[in-house]
Amino acid sequence: MLRSLVIASFFSIFWITPLKSYSPRFVSSETCSRSALNAAQSAAPNGRCLTRGVPLSPGLLLSGEKPDFLKIVSAKLEKQHGIGLFEACSVNDDLGAETVFREYGAVFVAEGVTVPSKCIFATEAEVTAFQSKLETSTRSVGGTTITLQRPAMDALIAAREAARKSGLSITPRGGPNAASRSFATTLRFWNSRLYPGLEHWKRQGRITAKDVADIRKATIPEQVDKVLRWEQEGIYFARGFSKSILYSVAAPGASQHISMLALDVTQFGNGRVREILAKHGWHRTVLSDLPHFTYLGVPENDLPRLGLEKKTSGGEVFWVPDLRTEKEGLRTENGTGEVR
Ligand SMILES: [Zn+2]
Repeated sequence: MLRSLVIASFFSIFWITPLKSYSPRFVSSETCSRSALNAAQSAAPNGRCLTRGVPLSPGLLLSGEKPDFLKIVSAKLEKQHGIGLFEACSVNDDLGAETVFREYGAVFVAEGVTVPSKCIFATEAEVTAFQSKLETSTRSVGGTTITLQRPAMDALIAAREAARKSGLSITPRGGPNAASRSFATTLRFWNSRLYPGLEHWKRQGRITAKDVADIRKATIPEQVDKVLRWEQEGIYFARGFSKSILYSVAAPGASQHISMLALDVTQFGNGRVREILAKHGWHRTVLSDLPHFTYLGVPENDLPRLGLEKKTSGGEVFWVPDLRTEKEGLRTENGTGEVR
């Protein structure tokens, strides 16, 4: 019962404001019982119970007119990892996975490289197993030794050469973590926000000592899901406790840096540098994270073909999954102090 309520409710409110009434959105075939279907249709008249992996939400239905992000991701996961979308990312019943997919999902359509096999890697062992399959390249770039998937590194080196000819440089921002990250690193960043938040909200009486004990014992995907649900009730975990934790850190096991397809760039504010990076397949894909670039393997003109859409935030351009919903993204302010 709880599960179906959650499934029926999670999808719509998170992107609007906390405490709005829920409306059902997104139902997988496993849960597409008559009651779930009715519940969903009552709020989403155009909704249909479709095949596994295809969302019920009319906002997410496949139009067939434009390249479809979900179809492209599904095809890549099948081809590269032999798994379906829902094995990589249980977007129908897990708010954490759904949010991560929406926030960082552009990396799943990158061309000529290996895309992640999970929205949220749950353990160090899972990350290590995935990373060990990648063809990587480690080089000293601007004095910092970084590791990327080989095509991403080759493109970066070519971009640096093009920049050099224009009297510009492109360097990693913030040491080796600017490129690749281990699970442990992403977990450390996450815990640096989670633990102070738990203490804060316990002191405020909004959560109990048992809540704290339970979430500390939970798996990482469960933690992410729980934190995002608390945040729907205004129990926030970013520094200052007034914004979502995802303003400042990626969910552990979910950072694009784990895939070795992301780079935080020192010269992110230079439009010419961004142009050169874009020509070489490097684009901004995480809304509001200004220094963060993702290797997608194609120039900007080709991004719509991958099911990505152009979003402008604070005058800056980002390419994000085109999920055909009316909802706004989580973040509206651009920033640079993040470890996503
Ligand atoms: Zn980054």
